[in-house]
Amino acid sequence: MSKILDCAIIGGGPAGLTAGLYTTRGGLENVTMFERGMPGGQIMNSSEIENYPGVTGEITGMDLMTPWPQQCQKFGLKHEMVNVTRVSKSGNVFTIHKEDGTATDSHSVIIGTGSSPRRVGFKGEDELFGKGVSTCATCDGFFYKAKEVAVIGGGDTALEEALYLAKICSKVYIVHRRDTFRSAPNTIARVQRTENIELVLNSTPDEVYGDAMGVTGLRVKNKEGEIRDIIVPGVFTFVGNDVNNETLIQEDKSFLCDMNDQGQVIVDISMNTSIAGLFATGDMRIAAPKQVVSAAGDGAVAALQAISYVDELLND
Ligand code: FAD
Ligand code: NAP
Repeated sequence: MSKILDCAIIGGGPAGLTAGLYTTRGGLENVTMFERGMPGGQIMNSSEIENYPGVTGEITGMDLMTPWPQQCQKFGLKHEMVNVTRVSKSGNVFTIHKEDGTATDSHSVIIGTGSSPRRVGFKGEDELFGKGVSTCATCDGFFYKAKEVAVIGGGDTALEEALYLAKICSKVYIVHRRDTFRSAPNTIARVQRTENIELVLNSTPDEVYGDAMGVTGLRVKNKEGEIRDIIVPGVFTFVGNDVNNETLIQEDKSFLCDMNDQGQVIVDISMNTSIAGLFATGDMRIAAPKQVVSAAGDGAVAALQAISYVDELLND
């Protein structure tokens, strides 16, 4: 039988990777990070990050995150590339249930499964996803070099990604349902002075349509009910994220720990959840600032807590 882990880390974004660094470097010997994809998290899809401390040049999310797993490996963090389906607890032992049918036991768990892009819900969005509808400008923007594209949303992500696309594409339409944005003021100012960005305000997408080759246009409706067809081969949607909390759902459909009504994990200032030995970090916790720096901070706090918890559990 395999040895019980000291700590299982679920998710390899900024929160999980920082937890991995601090648990291993802080003395826990048997720590595995379970990440279903490439480590780095959602910031890997960002074309530019300029608010991580110490970053002064223009760097992408991938540039920022690439060294993080390497740094953790140096201190002994193991990485298992697998989708975790459920975390359960019996007595003092947590079990990590995995999609490949295997399970791993652990004395403590730090969860940081983040969030995923939300679908807007207009006609054709699902059918044409990957065929002109995208949630990642860094991944797909280049396909629309010197072409026109539409961006849906009015938050930081939509505006920042519109600015990125405006450098590649001939024109970017930002379709937003209100006439004010929920983005940083300097980002709004940059958008407003970018000549090849057109703001389509007080408007919502009705339908994206296309042919065998993919998207050919987006139909939007404004507050007065007027319809406009925006003829574009690419539509990028950035309308927020949903918390990835599925791994906390138990067989009886209840959550392993206390959650709020938005599906976020309730934690205290030390990232303790309502279950001893389970810590929640990053975008999935209540009142998360949804920043790389705060997710990393959470990972460090949770790791220090996990070290004390395991020490007390095994030595008392
Ligand atoms: P995530 O980064 O979401 O990482 C969670 C990880 O868990 C993922 O790698 C995922 O694959 C993994 N995972 C999920 N479920 C499972 C499972 N069941 N089994 C195994 N693995 C699983 N923040 C900034 O500070 N500055 C910015 O400029 C900025 N720009 C952004 C631009 C974009 C386009 C986006 C989308 C976000 C941006 N953010 C920015 C926000 C920032 O990316 C997040 O706040 C941060 O990544 C959250 O980190 P996290 O570790 O909590 O979660
Ligand atoms: P967000 O702040 O939740 O903004 C989502 C946007 O989409 C809002 O403008 C919203 O409109 C719009 N929207 C939502 N549902 C819609 C629908 N069904 N139809 C049409 N429009 C819809 O999400 P985000 O921009 O992804 O940002 C998420 C978090 O990450 C935020 O906390 C953000 O600050 C952070 N982030 C930070 C940075 C940075 O620091 N540089 C970069 C990216 C993200 P309304 O405005 O009308 O609600």
